[in-house]
Parts: sequence; C-alpha cells; structure tokens
Amino acid sequence: MLEIKDLKVAYGRVRAVKGISFTVEEGQVVTLVGTNGAGKTTTLRTISGLIKPEAGEIWFQGKRIDATPAHEITVLGLAHSPEGRRIFPRLTVEDNLMLGAFARRDKAGVASDLDRAFDLFPILKERRSQPAGTFSGGEQQMLAIGRAMMSRPKLLMLDEPSMGLSPLMMQKIMATIVELKKEGVTILLVEQNAQAALSLADYGYVLEVGQIVLQNTGKALLVDENVRKAYLGED
Ligand code: ATP
Repeated sequence: MLEIKDLKVAYGRVRAVKGISFTVEEGQVVTLVGTNGAGKTTTLRTISGLIKPEAGEIWFQGKRIDATPAHEITVLGLAHSPEGRRIFPRLTVEDNLMLGAFARRDKAGVASDLDRAFDLFPILKERRSQPAGTFSGGEQQMLAIGRAMMSRPKLLMLDEPSMGLSPLMMQKIMATIVELKKEGVTILLVEQNAQAALSLADYGYVLEVGQIVLQNTGKALLVDENVRKAYLGED
C-alpha cells in the first residue's frame, strides 16, 4: 500500500533522513521506533507532502506521490495525526473533527464517521460544542486521531499518539489503534514508547540518526536483545 524507496530529507544542510526504504502492507500496523531526532516525524511529514524530499520515491497505492501537494494526498486516502496534536484551539471539538472531512462530499458518510468518532471517544461527544483549546493533552490527542479518521483514510499515520498521556489514556489510545486495524484501516505508527508500539505492530523498523538499523516483526523486535537494551531500558 505504501512504499518508500531510498528517501532522503534535509533541512538546509542538516540531513534528517539518510536514505531509508520501507513498506506498509494493506491491513497492517507498521511502526517506526527510535530515539529523539532519529527522523521519524520528518519521515511522516514527507509522506504527507508537507516537506519535499531531497531524493527517493514515495508510492501510495501504485501512485507516485513524492511531488504531490499535501491536500491532494489527503484526498487519495492518506491521513496524518501530527505530533503535538495541532488542533485548532478556538474552534469547537465538532468543528475540529469536521475539518478532517473537508474534502468529502458524501454527507451521510461524514455523519456516520462523526458518530463513529464519538463512539470511539465519548468525551468528544459530551464536549462537542466546547472550544478544543480547553481540552487536556490526552483529550486533544483523541481529537487529533478522531479528526484524522474523519477523512476516512485508507492509511492513517499517527505521530507519537501516546505523548504526554497517562498510562490509562495511553492504553485507550493503543486499544483504539487495534480497533481501527480491525475495521481495516492500515496504520503507520511513530512512537517513542517502543514497548507499546511493538506489542501491537505487525512489523517494525528501528530508526537511528536517519537510518533504518533493524527491521522485523513487532514480536521479534520486542524480544531482540539490542532493542531491549537500547529502547526498552534493559541492561
Ligand atoms: P522526535 O521523537 O524527537 O520528534 P524524530 O525521530 O521525530 O524525533 P525528527 O523530528 O524527524 O526526529 O528530526 C530529525 C532531525 O532533523 C533532528 O536532528 C532534528 O533536529 C532535525 N530537524 C527537525 N525539524 C527541523 C527543522 N524544521 N529545521 C531544522 N532541523 C530540523
């Protein structure tokens, strides 16, 4: 469904992504894990069309998209829930959600997806008319995921969905990812919490300073000695 070939991304003279290749198969949850500054966010922003790559190719459902504008990429079925949430604080919860559906014309479908977002996250329904800026960090995270879902994506990219969340809230977000997978959504998950991400991922890639240093099934990486030492805090 998504294929990245030898992707290189630079900010001026700083090369953040140094030639990475990976694939996401339809129906899978794939995770990119790695420490701060490894290039995970840069990779997602490049796939979304927010940053133009220096070199390499990005293919989504058989179409090359590395020169495609961001709004067209959304229309193709690729949604991005960004790091730091980026919700619109003055708009209501419901208006924030509806922004995710900006490109859709199927009103009935949009209405049913709004109901689904409310089912997944009841707090969004309870507070639908409240300005989103009054939400806690975890609630804003749910809103960001809900908004990304409103485009009814084929591929959903989640950047650090657990960031700043309590363990309970984090479990809820992880359970939501499992739920979305069951519904047939393909997911590319970026996480610093390697334990959580690898536990639910079909396949994982470990990024270090802009390069993929390890790749395997989520299960295999979870028991990999190097991964355990470097990312799961074991001696
Ligand atoms: P984190 O988990 O901390 O967000 P990350 O793996 O997502 O890390 P990126 O945010 O992609 O990493 O950053 C990769 C590298 O690119 C880092 O060295 C970072 O300092 C640099 N970088 C990121 N954004 C910019 C920018 N706008 N301008 C210059 N350098 C940047």
